[in-house]
Amino acid sequence: MEKLRYDNQVIVVTGAGNGLGRQYAKFFAARGGKVVVNDLGGTFNGKAGSDGAVADAVIKEITDAGGIAVANYNAVQEGEKIIKTAVDNFGRVDVLINNAGILRDVTIRNMKDEDWDVIMDVHVTGAMRTARAAWPYFRKQRYGKVINTSSSSGLFGNFGQSNYAAAKMALVGFTETLAKEGAKYNIHCNALAPAAASRLTQTVWPPEMMEAMKPDSVVPLVGTLVHSSCKETGSIFEAGAGHFSKIRWERSRGFIAKPDDSLTPDVVIRNHDKIVDFSSGASYPTSVADSVSLLEQANAQPAAMT
Ligand code: NAD
Repeated sequence: MEKLRYDNQVIVVTGAGNGLGRQYAKFFAARGGKVVVNDLGGTFNGKAGSDGAVADAVIKEITDAGGIAVANYNAVQEGEKIIKTAVDNFGRVDVLINNAGILRDVTIRNMKDEDWDVIMDVHVTGAMRTARAAWPYFRKQRYGKVINTSSSSGLFGNFGQSNYAAAKMALVGFTETLAKEGAKYNIHCNALAPAAASRLTQTVWPPEMMEAMKPDSVVPLVGTLVHSSCKETGSIFEAGAGHFSKIRWERSRGFIAKPDDSLTPDVVIRNHDKIVDFSSGASYPTSVADSVSLLEQANAQPAAMT
């Protein structure tokens, strides 16, 4: 198979000064893409810092290797400035990889408003601001690719990360919606739950795991999803240590009762086994219409006596 290339593509990578973002930026530049390396150069918890040297170091690596890249030092919450850097320098934007992120791990018992707000701000508001700024360019050129970075913490929950998990799950709904809004303009949006050794995982994972989980092994999936040949949209993927998989919603066949006076908690209790049974007749909803059709079936039911 021919090597995927990104010639004439302008690719914005947020948080590209470290970890996963740095690898994405280097990959695209090595394959002909023009890259905006965004990073404000903060600490892993966003409590301090703004260090332009972080993005500059990646620019140097890219240009030393013969690639094309420009730095942007804004916070993702100022997403319009990041997209402006792409347009001012390269005249367009084709791919947006929302990757910047921080952690403020704390249990709900000890959660301060600030711990919650800053996580929502960077992950959710940041991704919205960059996507909103890129959208008019995507629509006009009838082409655009977006990757939003979710996390297994968001998909499944993780102790001490209710703020981060909520933000990362918000990005799933955001992605699913952008995929629908972008469909008629050939704009494709997918969510990624990566696993890779980085500043965010070094305090959690043992050294052997850090060694096995190089960020490089996440890159091939991102490279594929944002390539012009890929039509995938509205999906959630996992990638890490050479493992790739797709996640989807599964709905049990469930139990449908007529929503009239006969519908009491007793009816639900009697049918609990059916409600939680995934063994036969499960479905894989992808739209609100899939829920509405169930409501229609409920109204067509005889009384809820079973
Ligand atoms: P990292 O700390 O190595 O890199 C993140 C970069 O984002 C840093 O360089 C940081 O300066 C930058 N950044 C932070 N806040 C910013 C802001 N407001 N504006 C601009 N830049 C900002 O972390 P990483 O592990 O490479 O994480 C990348 C993304 O992947 C994050 O969204 C993270 O939540 C997500 N993620 C990572 C893992 C993992 O295993 N590493 C797992 C799940 C999700």
